[in-house]
Amino acid sequence: MRVRILASGSGGNLSLYEHDGFALLVDAGVDPGGLASRLRQVGADYTRPDALVVTHGHADHCAHARAYAEGAGIPTYMTEATMRVVRPSSARHVFRYSPKEPFRVGPFELRPCAVSHDVPQVALRVQSDDGCAAVIATDLGEVPSELLSLLVGAQLAMLESNHDKHLLEVGPYPRFLKRRVGGPRGHLSNDQCAELLRVLPASVETVVLMHLSEKNNRPDVALDCAADALSDRSATLLAARQYDKQLFELAPRPREGSLLEAPDRARVDAIARAIATPSKRRTTEPNPAQLALKLL
Ligand SMILES: [Zn+2]
Ligand SMILES: [Zn+2]
Repeated sequence: MRVRILASGSGGNLSLYEHDGFALLVDAGVDPGGLASRLRQVGADYTRPDALVVTHGHADHCAHARAYAEGAGIPTYMTEATMRVVRPSSARHVFRYSPKEPFRVGPFELRPCAVSHDVPQVALRVQSDDGCAAVIATDLGEVPSELLSLLVGAQLAMLESNHDKHLLEVGPYPRFLKRRVGGPRGHLSNDQCAELLRVLPASVETVVLMHLSEKNNRPDVALDCAADALSDRSATLLAARQYDKQLFELAPRPREGSLLEAPDRARVDAIARAIATPSKRRTTEPNPAQLALKLL
């Protein structure tokens, strides 16, 4: 499976998953014409994806979903909630998926996981028939335990590292927006992303930091924070830019499901249980991933 990240950030999001001659687009933050010219620039041998999956109903992810579905006639998959935002004028080319159920698109199995954001939103695991898997998780205010399960066995993790808490605090956003971005239904900070990276399943070989804010973050700051969290392992670490050209080639594993060594698996399970423990947290308390790490 090949994965291309072509846009990441509040100016528009778009990633492509290619396998067996099929190109699946995740999110429609760039219009079909813009995607076609970008694909030409990166030397792709096609200009039109075979299907589109939209994660949620914010403009930087769904603004051009109607153009793909209705203008270009591309089969487009959305949740009920996203459909209410996109408002397709006909059901032709439009398919509904549940945020709780795996579904198939061409040679891919997609596993969604609902995440906390100010509109219904999913993280997605995209797995090709030969067992390669990538996870994309952006636009979430907290890390749910299910996200760890999604990452088990994946080779590529594209994870939000939206803002640096200090840069957000001293930055230009009005107070209400700072609260929204930094809140439990906003976006992951560099620190929250780092907490997730500290418990990342061993299968993940490449980590890409996604959806970096241009006003409340800097790539060097985000990368430093993530590199510290990954210091005891050899994963490749990169940061996506708003308009990107990153290409990742995922090779099939010898045995699908081989995924985690036993100690790591136990570690992930322990963290997942700890994170899943319900608690009425006050905002001054550490988030569940921090609590979970203390339990190890
Ligand atoms: Zn977004
Ligand atoms: Zn969003």
